[in-house]
Amino acid sequence: MMVGMTPGGEGERTRVLVIGAGQAGLSVSWYLRRLGLEVGRDLVVLDRGPGTGGAWQHRWESLRLGAAHRVHDLPGMDGLGLGFADADRSAPARDVVADRYARYEDALGLDVRRPVEVTGVTGLGDGFSVRWAARASSGGAPAAATGPESGSLRAEVVVNATGTWGAPFVPWYPGRDTFRGRQLHTSDYRAASELEGLDVVVVGGGTSAIGFVLELDGIAASTTWVTRRPVDWLDQGELDVESAVAAVAAQDRAARAGQALPSIVSGTGVPRTRRFVSGIERGVLVERPMFAAVEPNGVRWADGTFAHADAIVWATGFRPELRHLAPLGLRSADGGVSVEGGASTLDPRLFFAGYGPQASTIGANRAGRAIARQVVARLSESDAVRRRQG
Ligand code: FAD
Repeated sequence: MMVGMTPGGEGERTRVLVIGAGQAGLSVSWYLRRLGLEVGRDLVVLDRGPGTGGAWQHRWESLRLGAAHRVHDLPGMDGLGLGFADADRSAPARDVVADRYARYEDALGLDVRRPVEVTGVTGLGDGFSVRWAARASSGGAPAAATGPESGSLRAEVVVNATGTWGAPFVPWYPGRDTFRGRQLHTSDYRAASELEGLDVVVVGGGTSAIGFVLELDGIAASTTWVTRRPVDWLDQGELDVESAVAAVAAQDRAARAGQALPSIVSGTGVPRTRRFVSGIERGVLVERPMFAAVEPNGVRWADGTFAHADAIVWATGFRPELRHLAPLGLRSADGGVSVEGGASTLDPRLFFAGYGPQASTIGANRAGRAIARQVVARLSESDAVRRRQG
């Protein structure tokens, strides 16, 4: 793993650029390497994060592997002795994932260039021009003291694997801007101790919201939990395969149609794990319907009931992070991009890994192989065209 490298000089060319080194980008990269692409010459991977692990490196300290859902291995991880089956479940998930992904990148010789953010992708006749900027490292110093701080490179094919962590979603409620306390989204949440002694409202019906309510118990002065629709508790302690299949199918339909993606938890339901059942039985997990408005000192329901709040935690999900693709004009009127089997339906040289139906560790893995094969087919086609043109 190379940290702090920026892409080469202005005008660097590569055949395939992968944007993002989370599980989706790494999975595609694994298969591209296996299909014969050489790092540097054929394949460049850029990532904005300061370290390895994709979104996992940013998750809160108390989150453990298995607390949300299962984290599946990346392809080939088991053979490298990096599989998650024997991973430490008592250590923060962010550290465990970052460590295993770092060793995986090393084993692949991927030389991921970070922290480098892609700021704009523009279509050209023979591929894409990709603008990038080296981000400041955590100490605030330029990421790469030796290299340029921004530039562009050319790629024949782009695989976008940028996930959702950088695009937190907070719904609008009347009065939200007037609230005098602290508002934070899942992506800002660090530890329950930051909200010690406060009256906290937690918004959201997914496993993150439920986890926050449980860990704030006994630390916050009070916790009020509100959900837009009643949580669909599943009777089993693990995600039901049938409902997961239905949720993935719903994501796929929306992705193909170019619609905004539906919420995943509304399609899968929430498994009654032992920890969640205990929270319900102890009276800690008490769902209330969504409030109607935010006021300077709390939240108010339509029937006039009021709850005082010093802080509101919006565990209300994320949207795909696609801002850098705006110059390509792919967004449909329905708010999404049209993606079929991981490929853009509008531009055959552009792929989306980890998007919609692929947005889980197992989905991203399967998609890696399918996307890598399509990428290589695309490169072969353009080689054939070049040969014909002499
Ligand atoms: P990410 O892991 O987000 O990786 C995207 C990468 O792209 C990042 O490294 C980012 O730095 C980079 N990037 C983004 N934009 C740019 C840019 N413009 N330029 C350069 N780089 C860029 N799924 C599971 O299967 N199991 C779980 O237990 C689970 N738990 C979860 C818990 C929480 C709290 C959340 C929010 C999600 C959870 N998920 C879980 C879903 C999970 O997010 C995905 O499984 C996984 O992290 C997505 O991988 P990814 O590669 O698509 O995206």
